[in-house]
Amino acid sequence: MKDYAVIGGGIGGCCAAALLNHRGYNVVLLEKEPTLGGCASTFKHNGYQYNAGATTVSGYNENGIVKKLFNTLNLTPNLIPTDPAIVIVQEGKSVHRYRDVNTFVEELQHLHPHPKHGEFWHLIHRIGETFYTLNGHYYSNASLSKKIISLLSLIPMIRKFLPYLWGDARTFIEKFYGGISQEYRDFLDAQILIVAQEKSDKVNFFTAALSLGYTFNETHYAIGGMGKVCETLTANVSDVRTSSEVLSITRQNDHYVVKTRHSNIEAKNLIMGTSHYSSGRWFEDKEIKNYYQRYTKLDNHQSAFVLYLTLCTQKTFHHHYQLITKEILPKTLSKALFVSFSDSSDTNIAPAGHFSVTASIHTDSRFWLGLAPAQYKREKKELHDLLQAWICDTLAIDSNEIVDSFAATPKTFGRYLNRTQLGGNALSISNFLPRLPSNDTRIKGFYHVGDTAYAAQGWPGVAMGAQNLMKLIHG
Ligand SMILES: Cc1cc2nc3c(=O)[nH]c(=O)nc-3n(C[C@H](O)[C@H](O)[C@H](O)COP(=O)(O)OP(=O)(O)OC[C@H]3O[C@@H](n4cnc5c(N)ncnc54)[C@H](O)[C@@H]3O)c2cc1C
Repeated sequence: MKDYAVIGGGIGGCCAAALLNHRGYNVVLLEKEPTLGGCASTFKHNGYQYNAGATTVSGYNENGIVKKLFNTLNLTPNLIPTDPAIVIVQEGKSVHRYRDVNTFVEELQHLHPHPKHGEFWHLIHRIGETFYTLNGHYYSNASLSKKIISLLSLIPMIRKFLPYLWGDARTFIEKFYGGISQEYRDFLDAQILIVAQEKSDKVNFFTAALSLGYTFNETHYAIGGMGKVCETLTANVSDVRTSSEVLSITRQNDHYVVKTRHSNIEAKNLIMGTSHYSSGRWFEDKEIKNYYQRYTKLDNHQSAFVLYLTLCTQKTFHHHYQLITKEILPKTLSKALFVSFSDSSDTNIAPAGHFSVTASIHTDSRFWLGLAPAQYKREKKELHDLLQAWICDTLAIDSNEIVDSFAATPKTFGRYLNRTQLGGNALSISNFLPRLPSNDTRIKGFYHVGDTAYAAQGWPGVAMGAQNLMKLIHG
């Protein structure tokens, strides 16, 4: 019998399996797809490789949560720093989000001139720096006593950031600047949205500051694709089973039985690395079904439309761009498209002279899931063509340089990853702790990691949740 069965080999499942294995537990990691990574995986199409969703590693800076995790495991992912972290293109002008605050502020003055930029962006930087040096927080809502311990562990953070926790970021920012233009609001919102999954009117200033400030820490590009980072993470886990879709899970008195197409696996404990909004279907157990039912209200149906391109060109590109326009794009929830290019020297992901491109925009999954097949095909093609044309126009790419091009909707993600809500729980004021599921539950031996549990999405959020899980298991 296994000590732990980890279901789902996304960032969450991989972090949990690696940390438990490191502690000496007998662990099995089960992943439905042939490769690890989930939303942070790398896959093949027409002989070319693509990052499925995630393209940036943040949190691998000194003292960063992701770096600490890899250090604990004595493993080193193959990453290169990216500076600027993003090139933001708005109104035909570009701003490089350099790591150095002053250099970035100087650039910003050309696009959105304002005398208070220095003060504002240094505040953003300071909030991030202070937050990442705080250690020891712990989060569980599985019992009253654990809720109290969680609250006590959060007190140092609450004390330090009190003025930024109440009210919404939009009001705070407007007051700070004494009013801002719609274009600058769009500039800020686009960057807040990709981290917090909400715009400035729905998050507090603390969350907005962490979202806007992540580029002041070292951000990284993953050589060979994001999936390689998950492979490195689990390098020492001896029982990793890909192409092993879990079909059902039953709870026995003191253990769980996990059924895949090939085997029945018995484990004393279960770590779900799958989304809260899709996991209930594998259980008959009433208590577990109720657990998932409780969290359906957090599902915002926010998702992604992703365009994948391979370019054959002699041109050069930065790793990441964010294109911002004036209106929300049709069939989407955003005015901004995030476009990532492979490194020109990274022949592990694209042949020499080629670039692998992943471009994503927020969309509502219900729109795509509700379409009849013919209409779905039409709408998908329309958005694909619109985004491709936008990228080509803005970044001076000729259509004859595109050698492969296709798109994924929330429906596509549902088919491959068993989830249509993407990006995890928004870090909005209304979703704030203790509403967010914790990594433990009231059910014996039943745990969760991943972006729909604490501490939400992306490499830093999901890694923080996995480390919190270890504290909950070991006290
Ligand atoms: C378009 C897009 C761009 C993003 N960009 C970034 C970025 O640049 N940087 C960043 O840090 N974050 C980014 N994110 C967020 C980040 O990718 C996610 O928050 C993170 O990857 C989620 O990891 P997870 O482990 O919670 O879930 P998932 O990635 O969803 O992993 C769950 C895994 O479970 C597997 N699974 C499902 N059902 C079963 C089953 N029955 N049996 C076995 N396995 C199963 C799935 O195949 C999947 O591999 C992005 C997300 C999206 C959608």
